[in-house]
Amino acid sequence: MSSRINFTHTVTERFLRYVAIDTQSDPNSASCPSTEKQKHLGALLVQELRDIGLADAELDVHGYVYATIPATTDKRVPVVCFCSHMDTSPDCSGAGVKPQIVSNYQGGDIALPGDPAQVIRAAEHPALADQIGHDIITTDGTTLLGADNKAGIAEIMDAAAFLVGHPQIEHGTIKILFTPDEEIGRGVDKVDLQKLGAEFAYTIDGETAGHLEDETFSADSALITIAGVSAHPGFAKGKMEHAIKIAAAIVERLPKGTCSPETTEGRDGFLHPIGISGALEQATLALIVRDFTEAGLQDKAALLQRIVGEVMRDYPRSTVKLDIKPQYRNMKQVIDRHPQIVDFALEAIRRAGLEPVRSSIRGGTDGSRLSFMGLPCPNIFAGEHAFHSRLEWVSRQDMEKAAETIVHLAMIWAERA
Ligand SMILES: [Zn+2]
Repeated sequence: MSSRINFTHTVTERFLRYVAIDTQSDPNSASCPSTEKQKHLGALLVQELRDIGLADAELDVHGYVYATIPATTDKRVPVVCFCSHMDTSPDCSGAGVKPQIVSNYQGGDIALPGDPAQVIRAAEHPALADQIGHDIITTDGTTLLGADNKAGIAEIMDAAAFLVGHPQIEHGTIKILFTPDEEIGRGVDKVDLQKLGAEFAYTIDGETAGHLEDETFSADSALITIAGVSAHPGFAKGKMEHAIKIAAAIVERLPKGTCSPETTEGRDGFLHPIGISGALEQATLALIVRDFTEAGLQDKAALLQRIVGEVMRDYPRSTVKLDIKPQYRNMKQVIDRHPQIVDFALEAIRRAGLEPVRSSIRGGTDGSRLSFMGLPCPNIFAGEHAFHSRLEWVSRQDMEKAAETIVHLAMIWAERA
C-alpha cells in the first residue's frame, strides 16, 4: 500500500528558487548567522512553510528556521525532525548562481556555458554513469550550485507540502529545522533543542541516492608548543636549539605512506598537520587526529607522543607541550543505541525504489554534534555531488527520490509506533 503513493513533486522548482539566494557563510564573522543574507533564504522558507499551512513556522534571531507538521494520528509516535543547512561553502562563490538543466542526460561530459575551463567530465565524476535519462542541474561554471544543502531543503519542503496536502497519510508530529553556518562548523551552536522538541532527527545532506550515513569520524585536535633555546647566531655553537627546526623534525617524522589524508581512504584515520608557525625561541604545530574508533584515535595520539619524544632527545634543553583536545565523536556511538532510526530509514529508501547503502563519512556533520547533544541524527542522501565547487551538480530524479524517502520515513515511524 505505502509504496503505491502517487507523488507530485515541487522539489526542482523550489530548488531553483533557493539557489538564486546567496547564503555563503563567513568563518571570519563572529555573529550568528555569520552572514545576514542567510536570513533572506530563511524568511522565504518561513513564508513558503506558512503558505502550505504550517502556522508556527518561524525564523529566529540567530537565523534558524523551525516549523511543525502536526500529527495525523492519535497514536503515540516519536517526534522526528528533518534538518538541512541554508548556508553554502566559503570556498566558492554562491552569488548570482545561473543554473542550467541538462534534460535527459545521455552520458558524456557536461560543459558549463559560463566558463569554457569548467567541464564536468564523466571520467572524473563516475556517479554520472548512474544518471542516464535524468535531468541534471549544474551552474554556468562561474559559481557553486548550492545543492549542498539547498537540495536537502527543497526535498524537505517538497515532502512537507506533500504530507500537508495528503492528510490521509498517517504520521506523527514532524519537525522541520533549517540551520545557518554548517559549513563553518557552527550549524548547531544556537539551536534550541527544547523548542524543537524532537526525539530523533535526520540531516538530509548526503551525496549519492540511496545512501545513509550513520558513522562519522571521531576527531581530536593536537597542539604542540615548542620552547627552544635562543642565542646570537654568531655565537650559537653548542647553545642554540632552534624551535622551528624542532617543529620541522616532528613534521618530517609523521607517517607518509599511511596515516595521512593523502594516503588513506575508507575506514583508515590519520594524523594531519594543519598549521605551523614560530621563530627561533618558540614554535607551534597544530594537527588534527581522525579515526572511526576511540582506540584508533588513541593509537594515533600515542604515535604523535612517541615522535615528539624521539625528536626531543636531540634537543635536551628545549621543552615541548602536547595538548590533545576532543573535537567531536563518531555519531555511531549514540545511534547504535536506537537501531530503529537507521532501520526505518533503510526501509524508507527501499520503499522509494532505491537500493539502500549504509556508509560512513570521513568527516563530521551537524548530525554528529546533534547526536551527542541528545538528538540522534544520521545523514540521508540529498543527491548533491561535487559540492563546494563550480562543478557541483544534482539531478531532479535524485531530489525527488529523497523527498519520497522523507515521506515514507514519516509513515514508517507511525506504522511501527
Ligand atoms: Zn552540507
